[in-house]
Amino acid sequence: MSHTISILGSTGSIGRQTLDVAEQMGLRVAAITANSSVERIEEQARQFKPRLAVLTDEAAAKDLAARLADTDTRVLGGFDALLEAATVPEADTVVTAVVGMVGLKPTLAAIKEKKRIALANKETLVCAGELVMDAADAAGAEIVPVDSEHSAIFQCVQGCADRREIKRLILTCSGGPFYGMTYDEVGKMTKADALKHPNWKMGPKITVDCATLMNKGLEVIEAMRLYRLPLEQVSVVIHRQSIVHSLVEYRDGAVLAQLGTPDMRLPIRYAMTYPERGVNPAEPLDLLTCPPLTFAAPDREAFPCLRLAEEAATQGGTACAILNGANEEAVRLFLADKIGFHDIPRLVAEARAKVPVVQSPTLEEILEADRAARQAVLGD
Ligand code: NDP
Ligand code: MG
Repeated sequence: MSHTISILGSTGSIGRQTLDVAEQMGLRVAAITANSSVERIEEQARQFKPRLAVLTDEAAAKDLAARLADTDTRVLGGFDALLEAATVPEADTVVTAVVGMVGLKPTLAAIKEKKRIALANKETLVCAGELVMDAADAAGAEIVPVDSEHSAIFQCVQGCADRREIKRLILTCSGGPFYGMTYDEVGKMTKADALKHPNWKMGPKITVDCATLMNKGLEVIEAMRLYRLPLEQVSVVIHRQSIVHSLVEYRDGAVLAQLGTPDMRLPIRYAMTYPERGVNPAEPLDLLTCPPLTFAAPDREAFPCLRLAEEAATQGGTACAILNGANEEAVRLFLADKIGFHDIPRLVAEARAKVPVVQSPTLEEILEADRAARQAVLGD
C-alpha cells in the first residue's frame, strides 16, 4: 500500500489521472515532473504541495522557479533532476508516467532505492526489460504494472505461486481507429484520423501507437518481460469494447479475466493499494447495459507493426530497443506531419535491418542501440 508518491510525467494523461487518484485516496505527493508544461505543473504544485517539482527543459524550469518562489516547493531543471525526483526519500512509490525510453534511467534509480514502481512507461520495459526486472529482483523492489492489460494479468495471477501453471497470457486489443480496414485503406489515414481512439483518451504518442498496433506489439514485449515468458505464451485478441482488459489461461484450462469500464484510474489505484483494494467512486461496470463482448484475430497484414514487434521479441537482445527507438522517432515525424502513416512501419523495419543486434546487452549497449536506431530513422 502506497502512502507517499513521486510522479514522473505528472502533466500527462496518466500523470493527471494519478493525481486524481492521489486526491481521492488522500496520498501525499512528494515530487512531480514534466518536460516543459509550466502552467500545468505550477497548478499541480500549488494544489499538492510537493517538496520537489522538476522540468527537464531548463528554461521552463527557471520560469517555474520564479512562479513558485512564494511556496515551499523546490524547483529543479534538467535530466538529472528527474533522477532526484525518482529517488526522493519520503516517496515509497514512483509512478513512471513519462513517455518514451527517457524513463529508463529514472526507473532504475528508483528501483535501487527499493521504491515500488507503478509502471506506466512501457518503453522502459521494452528496451531494457530483462535488466529492469533483474534489478528489481536484486533490490527487492516491487513492479506493479499500470498499463490496463498488464494490470489485468497482474490481478489474474494473484494467488498463482508457480508460474509454470500459466499456459498463456491473452492481451486484448481494441483494434484502434482503423480496425477492419485493408493495408491500402489504412495508408490513406491522416494524423487527425489516427488521433481519434475509439475507447481511451491518452497522450498523442500512445494514441498513434494504438492506431498502428505498435502499442500492442510493445505490450506483448512488456508482458514477456514482466512475467518472463516466451512469445509463444503471449497472444493478442481483438476486443473492440475494451471491457475485458486481458486474460490468463492456466494449464488446467481455466481462463481468468479482469473486466471493468475503460478507465485508467482503476489500474492506477490498484498499483497504489496492492495487495489490497481501494474504493472506486465511479460507476462500476453494468453487465446488463454494456455492449456485447466480441473477440477476433488481429490482422498483421494491414498492421505490420504488430508483426515487427513480435519479430524483435523473438530475436531478443537489443532488437526491442532498436524497434522502440525507431518507432519513437517515426511517430514524432508522423505527429509533425513529416511522414505518412505507412512510413512508420517502413522506417522501423529499415532501422531494424540497419542496426546490428547485440545479445545479452549491458545498459550502455542498449542505450547505444537506441541511439543508432534513432539515427537510422532521422538520417545521418
Ligand atoms: P502524455 O504525452 O500524456 O504525457 C507524457 C508526460 O511525460 C508529460 O508529463 C510530459 O511532460 C512528460 N515528458 C514528455 N517527454 C519528456 C521528456 N523528454 N523528459 C521528461 N518528461 C517528458 O503521455 P501518457 O500519459 O499518455 O503516457 C505516459 C506513459 O504511459 C507512456 O509510456 C504510455 O505508453 C503509457 N501508458 C499510457 C496510457 C494512457 O492511458 N495514457 C495507458 C497505458 C500506458 P510535458 O507535459 O511537459 O510534455
Ligand atoms: Mg495498454
